[in-house]
Amino acid sequence: MMEGGCRCGESRYALAVEAMPPVYCCHCLDCQSWSGSAFTEQAVVREDAITASGPIIDYRFTSPSGAQSWQRVCGTCHTRLWNTNSARPGIAMVRAGTLDASDTIEPRAHIWVKRKQPWIALPGGTPAFEESAPLAEFTAILLR
Ligand SMILES: [Zn+2]
Ligand SMILES: [Zn+2]
Repeated sequence: MMEGGCRCGESRYALAVEAMPPVYCCHCLDCQSWSGSAFTEQAVVREDAITASGPIIDYRFTSPSGAQSWQRVCGTCHTRLWNTNSARPGIAMVRAGTLDASDTIEPRAHIWVKRKQPWIALPGGTPAFEESAPLAEFTAILLR
């Protein structure tokens, strides 16, 4: 079991996992805008592994591809906690920086590195992709 939560502490969640789930980093401009930071860290988990408590609210939007994105946000401090997407049913992307054990994260891949802030030096052995990673290759990296 791993736990995490928002900045104000009112919204908490637990992940029914044995160990740190696979994490990747996205350097696209949308992720920079949304996080207010250089990139996002996404932990990939089964949606049914999440239990949560607190004043969690939803923000839904339709992406240009037509997929429905459903973002879960603390209703008090508006920290974004996790999201699901109609294009990948049953899978949730947890904002890995909200995990209590975020100091143990070792990202397995970096995507959209063509939009990476230039001061960031990626570690040598970690796969990096100019844009989105091909799904089969990406899945193999995350599941290994
Ligand atoms: Zn909060
Ligand atoms: Zn992104």
